[in-house]
Amino acid sequence: MFSKILIANRGEIACRIIKTARAMGLKTVAVYSEADMDALFVEMADETIPIGAAPAAESYLRADKIIAAAKATGAEAIHPGYGFLSERASFAEALEKAGIAFIGPNARAIAAMGDKIESKKLAAAAGVSTVPGHLGVIKDAAEAKRIAKEIGFPVMIKASAGGGGKGMRIAHSAEEVEQGFASSMNEARGAFGDDRMFIEKFITQPRHIEIQVLADRHGNVISLGERECSIQRRNQKVIEEAPSPLLDEKTRKAMSAQAIALAKAVGYDSAGTVEFIVDGARNFYFLEMNTRLQVEHAVTELVTGIDLVEQMIRVAAGEKLGIAQRDVKLNGWAIESRVYAEDPFRNFLPSIGRIRRYRPPAEGTLNGLTIRNDTGITEGSEISLYYDPMISKLCTHGPDRAAATAHMIAALNEFDLAGIEHNIPFLSSVLAHPRFQAGKLTTGFIAEEYPQGFNGNTLDSSEMAALACVALDADLKLRARADKAGAHKLAEDWVVMLDDLDHPAKVARLGAGLSVVFAEKTIGRRMIESDWKPGEGVHRSRVDGTPFVALIEAVPGGYRLRHSGAAHIAQVLSPRAAELRRLMPKKKPADNSRFLMAPMPGRVVEVLAGEGQEVKSGEPLAIVEAMKMENVLKAERDGTVKKIKVAKGQSIAVDEVILEFA
Ligand code: ADP
Ligand code: ADP
Ligand code: MG
Repeated sequence: MFSKILIANRGEIACRIIKTARAMGLKTVAVYSEADMDALFVEMADETIPIGAAPAAESYLRADKIIAAAKATGAEAIHPGYGFLSERASFAEALEKAGIAFIGPNARAIAAMGDKIESKKLAAAAGVSTVPGHLGVIKDAAEAKRIAKEIGFPVMIKASAGGGGKGMRIAHSAEEVEQGFASSMNEARGAFGDDRMFIEKFITQPRHIEIQVLADRHGNVISLGERECSIQRRNQKVIEEAPSPLLDEKTRKAMSAQAIALAKAVGYDSAGTVEFIVDGARNFYFLEMNTRLQVEHAVTELVTGIDLVEQMIRVAAGEKLGIAQRDVKLNGWAIESRVYAEDPFRNFLPSIGRIRRYRPPAEGTLNGLTIRNDTGITEGSEISLYYDPMISKLCTHGPDRAAATAHMIAALNEFDLAGIEHNIPFLSSVLAHPRFQAGKLTTGFIAEEYPQGFNGNTLDSSEMAALACVALDADLKLRARADKAGAHKLAEDWVVMLDDLDHPAKVARLGAGLSVVFAEKTIGRRMIESDWKPGEGVHRSRVDGTPFVALIEAVPGGYRLRHSGAAHIAQVLSPRAAELRRLMPKKKPADNSRFLMAPMPGRVVEVLAGEGQEVKSGEPLAIVEAMKMENVLKAERDGTVKKIKVAKGQSIAVDEVILEFA
């Protein structure tokens, strides 16, 4: 076994690897960029070495600097995590030459699986069922159209070098092939420096189900079962689970057998993932193999009890697998939610900045329910524009799918984050969705269920009543604390304003709780008990005996309360104050509709509209690059462009005016 390993990665996955290495008694070396000087993984590692500037190309992708760091510290092996150098055969080869072990598969297996066209050919030869399509490089749109017609619509246009959902387009007609082929090719050239394209059939009602394999250097390969990753936005995974609600034991066995056959055919010798697309009738087709630790590996760990990072380290050190296929038992259900710094209310635009408050739900197991939170963040961490805007991977495990889902919803409700926008409201909404709970998943779930984007969850009247009780509990405690004379006597009559709606109520102290009788008959009487104290961000209570959790934050004159994907402003007023408040003129929000403003800081790639031009709602107006992604800003309604305020190539701040309408 090694005594010291280096982690050629950053963020949550670097922390994750350090944890296992430490548990195995191995010393760890972190390499870091200038942007990560204060990062958690740097703090956790035994030794640290700076390797360059913030852009990945100058640090985390610099194989030469990373190898030099390993030599300088005497690290005998390197774990690449995911992304960055993890799937570069040249990196694995360079390590072999330098006499450093690569904690991943051999370079030949990486190369064979790194190319979608080549890996499909190899899979087909190994008896694996592949998506019907054309197994060759397609030169231009004309050839693409001809082949698409042969395959039959809809088709998927794909980059052979693709990854992370890039260089990929669905086409339903020859016209869409014409339009999509060139842009996919450009995207592939830009992202991968390789624009070889191919076309396959688009599988309708598709589910993404992948098999985790584990192999050693002695020819042993086992399957650790599947993960379902069908909840995707723009071909990128958002929520994953293990096992899959679709699979029966027979299909699981058949998919595992094919994944193992493929791994054996390429001489695979580490942890790896064989991705399949599965239709409603449980027909499955090979998509690609990822020759690395997968982002969502934790759900497999939770249902199998096997530490994948430990297994990767052991097989890289030459050990034989200590686990046989018959030892692998799937136990219970696990779900992962990817918590991202992005604004779900503004079309998921990345949100960068400092994380002012970071209070995740407590990790651990209680009554058969587990919470695991893999993160690289601490309070005060910065989400920078250089890397993935991931905040954490929140996982829950329970005896069955319903329990794991309910536990996830509760955990998300307790996750207290401030300083940046985040997708927790959206995650809560998906988990609470009846179709998600019924397990009727497809990769089109988000596009189909949120066709207009995400506008927040609506709470039912009983949840709204609970929020009103939370506001009363918090406000009356604050008033009692402010009453220095201690002569405080609880007044009876109060008005809770939720957003702009008044809810008059009579309040009385009853034992440890408050009894609240709302004037509205539909709400009626409620009882809230809580040990919340002023200053706490999470408000835990029992409302009519049922646990209820809301996040609470002071805002001018009141509170912002969040629960299950919804946010509401609450104020608690005396009846007199409420009356006066109704007489106050309402402040109108500034009218920004005449401007197109930058939704995030970035760089202007292109202004598509010209001064004096009439534009229709939905028409693209400008392209702004942020966090390595091009975002197309579209007109929200019809209008005429009066003035362009920015130039191509210019850096812009958030809310900076890009153009003005007449
Ligand atoms: P996984 O396949 O492990 O579930 P994802 O599908 O989210 O993970 O991402 C696939 C891989 O591509 C990961 O290694 C991730 O780090 C990387 N990746 C994702 N998005 C990008 C991007 N915009 N640029 C470069 N690499 C990316
Ligand atoms: P990447 O390397 O970017 O992860 P994949 O080939 O794994 O690319 O595809 C990513 C996602 O795109 C899949 O999870 C699936 O949702 C969708 N997809 C890919 N190919 C097809 C197809 N032929 N039919 C339907 N959906 C597909
Ligand atoms: Mg994939």
